Amino acid sequence: MTTNANGQASFNADELQVFFRGQFVPVSEAKVSVMTHALHYGTGVFEGIRGNWNAEQEAINIFRMREHYVRLLDGCRILMLDIPYTADELCDITTQLVERNRHVSDIYIRPLAYKSEELVANLKLQELAADFTLITVPFGNYLGSDRLRCCTSSWRRVDDPMIPARIKACGIYVNSILAKTEATLSGFDEAILLNHDGHVSEGSGENLFMVKDGRIYTPGLEDNALGGITRDTVMQLARNELGLEIDMRTIDRSELYLADEVFLSGTAAHLTPVVELDCRPIANGEPGPITSELQRMYFDIVVGNNPKYRHWCTQVKTGSLVPA
Ligand code: PMP
Repeated sequence: MTTNANGQASFNADELQVFFRGQFVPVSEAKVSVMTHALHYGTGVFEGIRGNWNAEQEAINIFRMREHYVRLLDGCRILMLDIPYTADELCDITTQLVERNRHVSDIYIRPLAYKSEELVANLKLQELAADFTLITVPFGNYLGSDRLRCCTSSWRRVDDPMIPARIKACGIYVNSILAKTEATLSGFDEAILLNHDGHVSEGSGENLFMVKDGRIYTPGLEDNALGGITRDTVMQLARNELGLEIDMRTIDRSELYLADEVFLSGTAAHLTPVVELDCRPIANGEPGPITSELQRMYFDIVVGNNPKYRHWCTQVKTGSLVPA
């Protein structure tokens, strides 16, 4: 198995199963029409969930799966996507698919609820049928670096009265993709987006944290940050394990230049230090101690090695399913 620059490992597509139109089918059979509404307008919501391979357990640990599906169903409410599954049923379908695909490496799980109606010139959500599909693929390192050099994006993060920033609507990702493309073509690892009024919002696919004088700060959702599940994990660990309070407040761009530590958090990105922003080193340009400690705890937890937080992991014993 090889891994490309975006962390997606190559796999044999003939053997990969997906969940499509209520059934498990080979990916080659999961096809939609060019008339599909979501293809034209981005009328869908998706999730990115990680399953982390633990060789000793011979199991994939799916991290905080139910929380991801609760967020997906929140997005379904806003976009009027009527799919016939509860969060628990979606978890069950996911576990079954991971078992069927017999993954024995880290994986990325991509649920997608979308307007499947084959009718393009209609902008009324209430009239459009929806469907749900699910893909699981081998996945590695997403950001391609464990010490990020970032730039402030010339693109602004979408604003709630334009398109709801608190859900993972497919169409929103044109915003993230423009920012990420600009950053990487300019030689940076990741973009930091400001919100409509010029305050720090988040990365193209990650939440942002800043450490200053022993306190941790992160923008609130009113600054159009996504309510990240990794963000919540970081906040719980900082509070419960390090005894540090998190200030959720507006952050100015220049505060980041003067921060002691900056890091990004996200399912694909994990918890990764930013060592440079707009060609200025953050502090001494090395990952800071609070970031490193949180990162160490996080990596232990997501592979199911910390009994205190094992309830966050859904263990799927795929190792024993693979023929010797
Ligand atoms: N912001 C954006 C725009 C994202 O796409 C993501 C990834 N889902 C995040 C933040 C981080 O969210 P999470 O920790 O739930 O993956």
